[in-house]
Amino acid sequence: MSKLRQAQTVSAGTEADPSLKRHAEQCGICRHPQRAQLEQGFLNWVSARDLATEYQVSKSAIYNHAEVTGLLDQRHHNTQSALDRLIERVDDAQVTAGSVISAIRLRLKMEAGRATR
Ligand SMILES: [Zn+2]
Repeated sequence: MSKLRQAQTVSAGTEADPSLKRHAEQCGICRHPQRAQLEQGFLNWVSARDLATEYQVSKSAIYNHAEVTGLLDQRHHNTQSALDRLIERVDDAQVTAGSVISAIRLRLKMEAGRATR
């Protein structure tokens, strides 16, 4: 059972990992009435700042919840899959200076995102 599923189980009141249970008891997102929508937005790369505003939670709470429940890893995995599909087609692509610069910027943003977690 994934950590994400375990955290959902905690909110349903059944047994789970004690650290996830403790998290769920203190986390405003685990208890948020629109948790599913917030999590779906996070997985679809809606910015944490926009989610925090829309659901009236803090950005740090979103990242903490995402880290503990495995959403952050799931989101990165989704990105890697999408990028992998693009990379597989690189021989068919026309490489320009702009596309190289865009790739470098994306890579730096991904590394910066990991460093600020
Ligand atoms: Zn939570």
